[in-house]
Amino acid sequence: MGALGPANGTGVPSDHQLQALIAQAVPVDIGLTPMKGFKMDLSANPGFRKVFFSAKCDCGTNALLSVEVAQDKTLDEVKRVLTSLISKLQGQVKSFRSMPCDMHARLRLGPVAGR
Ligand SMILES: [Zn+2]
Repeated sequence: MGALGPANGTGVPSDHQLQALIAQAVPVDIGLTPMKGFKMDLSANPGFRKVFFSAKCDCGTNALLSVEVAQDKTLDEVKRVLTSLISKLQGQVKSFRSMPCDMHARLRLGPVAGR
């Protein structure tokens, strides 16, 4: 008895909503592409959801960037930390872009088409 707040209706966004929310907040000019689908990295932080983005360099290297959001964060709570999530992504993009391309080549996964 005496519930002070709504016990149900947690307001926790679905994975899709979470990704859309963050994707919409990312400035277009930093050149991030939201990754379709979630890759759950179970070995990392349990209880956190990761939202992935890819950044592309002119040399053809793609970097996988991600931010973590606690699983039980509500939509409102995510909105409150959105700015810091975005600045984390921007920081990751910045360090990717400031890397020389021969380092990008080394980061590249998968077969490299040699010429
Ligand atoms: Zn490059």
